[in-house]
Amino acid sequence: MVDDRSQSAEDGTPDLEHFREAARSFLREHLPLKQESDDQWALPFFTDVAEAEQHFLRGRRWQKTLYEHGFAGLTYPSEFGGRGFDARYEGVFRDELLLFDIPRALVAATISMLGPTLLKFGTDEQCRRLLPRLLSGDDAWCQLFSEPGAGSDLATLACRAERDGDRFIVNGQKVWTSGAQFCTHGMLLARTNPDVPKHKGITFFLFDLGSPGVDVRPLFQANGSADFSEVFMTDVVVPMEAVLGSVDEGWPVVRAVLSNEASFIGGGGAGEPSEPTNEKLVRLAREFGKAEDPVIRQDLVRHFSRERLVSVMGARIQASIRNGGPPAVDPSLLKLFTTANRVLSGDLAMAIAGPSAMITVDTRSEWLQAELTGRYVFSIGGGTSEVQRNNLAERSLGLPREPTNDRAIPWRKIPRG
Ligand SMILES: Cc1cc2nc3c(=O)[nH]c(=O)nc-3n(C[C@H](O)[C@H](O)[C@H](O)COP(=O)(O)OP(=O)(O)OC[C@H]3O[C@@H](n4cnc5c(N)ncnc54)[C@H](O)[C@@H]3O)c2cc1C
Repeated sequence: MVDDRSQSAEDGTPDLEHFREAARSFLREHLPLKQESDDQWALPFFTDVAEAEQHFLRGRRWQKTLYEHGFAGLTYPSEFGGRGFDARYEGVFRDELLLFDIPRALVAATISMLGPTLLKFGTDEQCRRLLPRLLSGDDAWCQLFSEPGAGSDLATLACRAERDGDRFIVNGQKVWTSGAQFCTHGMLLARTNPDVPKHKGITFFLFDLGSPGVDVRPLFQANGSADFSEVFMTDVVVPMEAVLGSVDEGWPVVRAVLSNEASFIGGGGAGEPSEPTNEKLVRLAREFGKAEDPVIRQDLVRHFSRERLVSVMGARIQASIRNGGPPAVDPSLLKLFTTANRVLSGDLAMAIAGPSAMITVDTRSEWLQAELTGRYVFSIGGGTSEVQRNNLAERSLGLPREPTNDRAIPWRKIPRG
């Protein structure tokens, strides 16, 4: 637990420097330092389901450890399991974390997406019941948004939830659900009214994946990774108290989650700094004798600068969200910036290593190959780059909406393949 002996008298918050020391000694006790880690070229994904699950469970255990020692939910209200500190404390903790090898997993992403959304749209009862379990990793959440016929145009989604007294009966399919096979709960979008335009009539449910009628089937990607699932729901009973926000009014809740997701992917998430790829690129340049190459050096500096900018923008966004305000930078901008830098890092890794990296079989080459192919994780997941540009144009630049012919007609009348 954070030692609160150096509290300021007024509100019980520890002094910032005292908090930094407490954080540092907690992290030293519980995590290996980065340079002590023997897995410097570890892949950012798993090709074996059992390994993927172990990694996920490690993420949940780490979250639990954070929670038990008072380092989870630093800026969340104390009545909901947080510490009630201001955003500076989160910044200090993130700085300290940079030195350590962190067991990262989807847990951090979904806390970033759902936590602030629950605070904004949840009832007091929902916040009291769900936030402590979210912050402690006791519940693990996934995002049940995308469907075979609804990705970028998410509002066309067809999963149905029909009202039956004080409950709903859900039928439908979700796809590309990261980590569903390891999670206990899902943020589920379902259509509750098909007779109004597509953005209306959607309800956001806090969904129990253990409910009878839920079938989670893992999907494997071309690179062998086993992180996705498709989820089928047949006559699943969902109680009224699972609705977040209002029935038929789920779209503003969705937008909050997607905005939080874009800023998480952009690097500002959940108190955990994104792993600096630049350090690996510099190491690679040294190992391949390219550290003196002026063109490589120039690109390394460009990549480093962008990585730092992304990190600063991400920290600003997270601070503003946690302080209850709108994001300080449009999260779509951050996500686009991150995606562009991932493309640069893949190209740079290949420029340093040359074609041999494609045929050599060792952990470093596997990392290089993953860096090259893994850029799509960023340019598609959490909304494609084209969609993020549309968001920027409409939200930040105030340009006219993209023309569509189905925005005003009832969802039921939209032609579907
Ligand atoms: C790593 C990863 C993790 C994911 N995790 C999840 C998850 O946990 N939960 C979940 O629900 N989903 C998840 N997804 C799915 C993701 O949200 C969708 O793949 C994404 O929204 C795009 O939808 P789509 O694949 O159906 O492509 P489509 O929407 O069919 O798009 C196809 C192409 O058309 C372009 N396009 C579409 N509309 C426009 C437009 N209006 N203007 C310009 N271009 C356009 C797109 O940019 C894209 O290039 C994940 C995807 C990835 C890659």
